[in-house]
Amino acid sequence: MTAAPADRPAPTDLLGRPLGSLRLSVTDRCNMRCGYCMPNEDYTWLPRASLLSFEELDRVAGIFAGLGASKVRLTGGEPLLRHGLAALVGMLARRLEIDDLALTTNGILLAEQGPELASAGLGRVTISLDTLSAERFAAFARSTRHADVLAGIDAAIRLGFHSVKLNSVIIRGFNEDEIVPLLEFARERRIEIRFIEYMDVGGATRWRFDDVVSREQILTIVGERYGPVTPDQEAGRGAAPAERFRLRDGSRFGVIASTTAPFCGNCDRSRITADGTWYLCLYSDRGIDLRTPLRSGATDEEIGALIRRTWRARFDRGAEERLTLIDRAALYAVEGLRADPRREMHTRGG
Ligand code: SAM
Repeated sequence: MTAAPADRPAPTDLLGRPLGSLRLSVTDRCNMRCGYCMPNEDYTWLPRASLLSFEELDRVAGIFAGLGASKVRLTGGEPLLRHGLAALVGMLARRLEIDDLALTTNGILLAEQGPELASAGLGRVTISLDTLSAERFAAFARSTRHADVLAGIDAAIRLGFHSVKLNSVIIRGFNEDEIVPLLEFARERRIEIRFIEYMDVGGATRWRFDDVVSREQILTIVGERYGPVTPDQEAGRGAAPAERFRLRDGSRFGVIASTTAPFCGNCDRSRITADGTWYLCLYSDRGIDLRTPLRSGATDEEIGALIRRTWRARFDRGAEERLTLIDRAALYAVEGLRADPRREMHTRGG
């Protein structure tokens, strides 16, 4: 049962933005240690007993979808580390109010789990791929499983998901020399790649503005190799974070310029951590506890009313506010993250 009849309009916030999509983090654990997300040696993990069960995740996603958040993306941490994830995918896929069910993964376990995820009804998959070099991957992400990521990408393509995309975070001095090779890799496979500007979020405790490769710089590098790059008017953007561009031969790619050209004005996204804390903005310091009402007998209608009321009072524009800072540095130091692990990107979900 959903919280509100589907014909009731989605609530809009104080800036007129509808509740449109939900990122559901299913675990704060990850099997990589990317320098821009989990650079430290040790972490404070969410207590196991606090993690929402599949039934709770399904229920809360259903309530959100009933209010208008019909796009649901599973994330983490690394979502494929959550044991039996395909069962949750199956539960969500059966909900008619969810019309877009996606997963963001680092791909390490995708070749293994892809077939059951596809049969369970997963629609779209986005795989993070920052480098084509196994050596760089080992140094930067402290993982020896680069070949598994590449196998995961090819498995996803073979399995015929509605869409398979790649995400590459571009960082100066690490991989800006791979923009063209990564784009070629995607073009060869006829899938879309999105280059993401390095963001000063959660675990990016070593973030410096000088390390950001901006949208303009990315477009210049692509233009130097392929000739004119034109905005893809046809594809439109809507509330999507990526701006899409076309090369002369018609192939497309995206840029997510969250750092230098944020898109808060269209942001219809919110995120729930694996322990059921709801964040209205990637940058916000405080979340709303949904686990307590979920576990203390509140009805779907009551939780739906809480969500509706909270969304209507939303005015967050975290990325745009960061843009106005003169001395912009990492959002948190390590101590700030230890004090509240939900501030981590790997807890909040990218
Ligand atoms: N483990 C999954 C993965 O690797 O895709 C899902 C979680 S991960 C936190 C989601 C996305 O956030 C990834 O594409 C990752 O590259 C991105 N991300 C994490 N920290 C970032 C940062 N500081 N700047 C930009 N993107 C970041």
